[in-house]
Amino acid sequence: MSYKNFPMVPRVIFGRGSFNQLSDILAPKRLSINAPFIFLVDDVFKADTWLTSRIPLSYEDKILYISANEEPKTEQVDDLVEEIILNTKERPSGIIGIGGGTLLDLAKAVAIMLTNEGEAKDYQGWDLVKNPAVYHVGIPTISGTGAEVSRTTVLTGPSKKLGINSDFTPFDQVVLDSELTKNVPTDQWFYTGMDCYIHCIESLNGTYLNAFSQSYGDIALTLCKEVFLSDELSKTEIQEKLMMASWHGGMSIAYSQVGVAHAMSYGLSYLLGTKHGIGNCIVFDHLEEFYPEGVKLFKEMKIKHNISLPKGICADLSDDQLDTMIDIALDLVPLWENALGKNWQKKITRKKLKELYQKM
Ligand code: NAD
Ligand code: ZN
Repeated sequence: MSYKNFPMVPRVIFGRGSFNQLSDILAPKRLSINAPFIFLVDDVFKADTWLTSRIPLSYEDKILYISANEEPKTEQVDDLVEEIILNTKERPSGIIGIGGGTLLDLAKAVAIMLTNEGEAKDYQGWDLVKNPAVYHVGIPTISGTGAEVSRTTVLTGPSKKLGINSDFTPFDQVVLDSELTKNVPTDQWFYTGMDCYIHCIESLNGTYLNAFSQSYGDIALTLCKEVFLSDELSKTEIQEKLMMASWHGGMSIAYSQVGVAHAMSYGLSYLLGTKHGIGNCIVFDHLEEFYPEGVKLFKEMKIKHNISLPKGICADLSDDQLDTMIDIALDLVPLWENALGKNWQKKITRKKLKELYQKM
């Protein structure tokens, strides 16, 4: 048995308004006046001077606004890296991602690809990155994915949707300022928040569970229940608790694995472009037989927040298309092994997956 030696984010600042300390945090990391900080910012904030006016820019520092309408692609990472190299005199001092999982993953991937040769797709997998990344900072503006704490950056490439999992992927610094999440629309808040809830259910009910994962998972699950089911919390408390739930949920799966919902959601995402949060919700809604208690509570949360999920998204798919989704899902061996144990292949069939997809 060989145990994972997992790198953690070495620095984190937490608190409302902590975003204002960004300038102090970055200053000592500036390598030279020709080595700028590049801020990758969700373009939802483009008109939001409340946030953008507080991004500390000096010398050649730049903001690149990026849409989060689609999940990150390897080609997009390569284009960004090229754009940055062409427009800077020296290698950047740092990459700062401001946004949800999409922007956080882009920031991690760009930081890696600035110091590693070739294309991003070459590094999709486990431990393929050779050189340490450029200093990179993650500043989440929506809570749930755990991307702020994880060792991966999930990218869709030409042939697969797979993360760059490496010891160089985690952020060097994370800023947890829950105030930045205050304007997230309710639906999106629910979808991304449920990503965290589903991380907890899949980790806590998996065969990979251990005391490390359980301790973080228990805390994250308790926080999720408070956030999504309690009537006692203020808006600020909700935002702070969900931010910490996301962190703990990410830590929980770092040392275990996700499960059936994530495997099937990757299939939806690959074929239909369904985004991670909503895709997980669409799948999880149909997984009573795998996670009976978790799904029951999920349905209560859905009702409480008046969420209606899209229906019939697989209704018109051909057999070939369904097969593609099933292939993508079944390819994620560790997820199935975690969910169903070593004999998982005996417990899940293509027919079963097809039936499930057709219900969605
Ligand atoms: P996202 O980044 O895709 O953003 C979702 C939507 O919320 C976008 O429209 C965005 O513009 C909007 N938004 C974000 N912050 C906002 C704010 N403060 N106010 C108003 N609108 C705001 O959402 P996500 O669910 O956080 O991330 C999903 C991505 O994360 C997927 O690409 C998925 O693959 C990835 N992911 C990564 C990991 C990891 O460990 N690296 C884990 C889970 C998911
Ligand atoms: Zn997830």
